[in-house]
Amino acid sequence: MRLILLGPPGAGKGTQCKRIIDKYALTHLSSGDILRAQRAGGTALGKKAQAYMDSGALVPDDLIIEMMIGAIKKAGGNFVLDGFPRTVAQADGLTKALKKAGEKIDAIVNLVVADEVISARLTGRRSCPKCGAVYHIVNVPAKVAGKCDKGCGPLVQRDDDKPQVVENRLRTYHQQTEAVVGYYEGKDSPVLNIEADRSAEAVTADIIAQLQRLAG
Ligand code: ADP
Ligand code: AMP
Repeated sequence: MRLILLGPPGAGKGTQCKRIIDKYALTHLSSGDILRAQRAGGTALGKKAQAYMDSGALVPDDLIIEMMIGAIKKAGGNFVLDGFPRTVAQADGLTKALKKAGEKIDAIVNLVVADEVISARLTGRRSCPKCGAVYHIVNVPAKVAGKCDKGCGPLVQRDDDKPQVVENRLRTYHQQTEAVVGYYEGKDSPVLNIEADRSAEAVTADIIAQLQRLAG
């Protein structure tokens, strides 16, 4: 199965991907995680992406399309895309690359959440730099504050989750990414709109129910 998880930053895309990948045997392809790994590794791509990411802007389409098409090829036929596509040009690049391979996306899961909820989710997000587990200081607290439940060590706050950058990221979402939902509507991959201002468990149950309905 080939899925896309859409939605504003902080909607819960990563959280939901982690909750469904085992059930559907999917590879989780997060453009943000791949970019952060490139930065940590000091690669040419990581260096080019740095300033865009730190300011809450989008990394240029050509770099992202090449990076994600490469990751998709490596993943084989079962994957969930998280954070990509984020512009209509990226969506078009993805459609063309899949078409060339005789493939298409099975469903677009669109997580719908209001901006006020998003700001609180992003500023309260904490993650484990070692295992990638994601927490929230109020909604999904670690058992011991500031420490990963899996014993990895201290949790960190992403620099781009600080309030000034969060505002820019939300603006970027409305200006450049929201239109991606419209790009997919009425095309041959169905868009499943999911109300995401509910518990993570309720959101997962809705995603699974809607995917099951699609499968008939
Ligand atoms: P995204 O990948 O869309 O940027 P995340 O999955 O990282 O979003 O979630 C953003 C923050 O919100 C995290 O701190 C996460 O723990 C928290 N979160 C995710 N889903 C929910 C939910 N349904 N209710 C409350 N908090 C949530
Ligand atoms: P995320 O982890 O998805 O919130 O992404 C963190 C940052 O990485 C974003 O604010 C962008 O700067 C960059 N980024 C991630 N995915 C993309 C994408 N598909 N297109 C452009 N920039 C991206």
